[in-house]
Amino acid sequence: MKVLLLGGTGEARALAAALHPEVEVISSLAGRVPDPALPVGPVRIGGFGGVDGMRRWLLDERIDVVVDATHPFAATITAHAAQVCAELGTPYLVLARPAWAPGDAIVVGSDREAAETVTGNGYSRIFLTTGRSGTAAFKGVDAWFLIRAVTAPDPDTLPADHELLLSRGPYDYDGELALLREHRIDALVTKNSGGAMTEPKLRAAATAGVAVVMVDRPALPPGVRTVATVEEAADWVRAKIAG
Ligand code: NAP
Repeated sequence: MKVLLLGGTGEARALAAALHPEVEVISSLAGRVPDPALPVGPVRIGGFGGVDGMRRWLLDERIDVVVDATHPFAATITAHAAQVCAELGTPYLVLARPAWAPGDAIVVGSDREAAETVTGNGYSRIFLTTGRSGTAAFKGVDAWFLIRAVTAPDPDTLPADHELLLSRGPYDYDGELALLREHRIDALVTKNSGGAMTEPKLRAAATAGVAVVMVDRPALPPGVRTVATVEEAADWVRAKIAG
């Protein structure tokens, strides 16, 4: 039994650790960050080359099962994997961490809508945490931005007035609260990523009276089997092995 584990998340690393070496798992990373946190066991890095490339790779490597533990906003790779697995009849599971309850957040459908909301509400000091590909929509927004990302966004996508903070979670409540206060932030813009690693910023924003603009998750492809925890995903793989 050979498993392809689509990764790039803490959950994917935890699942690789739970299954390795009992199960033959190949983890796959997109290769976006120069020094990725690596899972245990074999790893391949880089895109497959679209749907056709992934289909060829699954056949060449004789993959029996695919577990998709990519980030909830990594919608393209998930769409490709769902399509290819359906075509090949390969069992496919999505490990999707539960979304955050939005609470008082203003929920929007896209980065562009988040930028419109910031402008429409007149927020002036924004903590932007939507990642390196999430800055372009804010380029023309007239506000000051504290932009936090793992790797630097393309300079062409950055709003004029900003400070860049390169760092990788997890983050804690006290640190997040201090950051909001130090920079006199009035609005936090975040994806609804879910999970504990970056959740403290939401509690800190509530304490500090900072508005939250939350980009809703893209929908999963219809009909895919989904679990919420690493343990459930590991059980599903073991059940496949047991036949
Ligand atoms: P995406 O938009 O869904 O995918 C774009 C392309 O990147 C895919 O078509 C595929 O290229 C390649 N790719 C993505 N994930 C891959 C993987 N695990 N293994 C091999 N190729 C992959 O993805 P994204 O949002 O850019 O995210 C890229 C990676 O970063 C993912 O692994 C994701 O788990 C991780 N990540 C994303 C976010 C986020 O907010 N989006 C946050 C944290 C971590 P081909 O078409 O050439 O196969």
